[in-house]
Amino acid sequence: MGVRRKSGGFVLKVNPILCDGYGHCAELAPDLVRTDEWGYPIVVAVPVPLSNLGALASARYAVRGCPRKAMHIERVADES
Ligand code: SF4
Repeated sequence: MGVRRKSGGFVLKVNPILCDGYGHCAELAPDLVRTDEWGYPIVVAVPVPLSNLGALASARYAVRGCPRKAMHIERVADES
């Protein structure tokens, strides 16, 4: 059996209707999220490779830690 490489990437998405702007996500995934002057999240828009396991773990942490369930991870296919 060969080793399967994870291909593609992901982006963290925020539902602005659900988000309360308290900013937990920026604390949980500071490499992917920063907040604006009102505390609402600004997420990295450029897809992060799925092979970046540290960033993926941060994203999952932010999704689980969001009290409003306003975040999700969206997979992005490789461009070819
Ligand atoms: S943790 Fe959730 S509700 Fe809070 S700012 Fe981030 S996305 Fe919005």
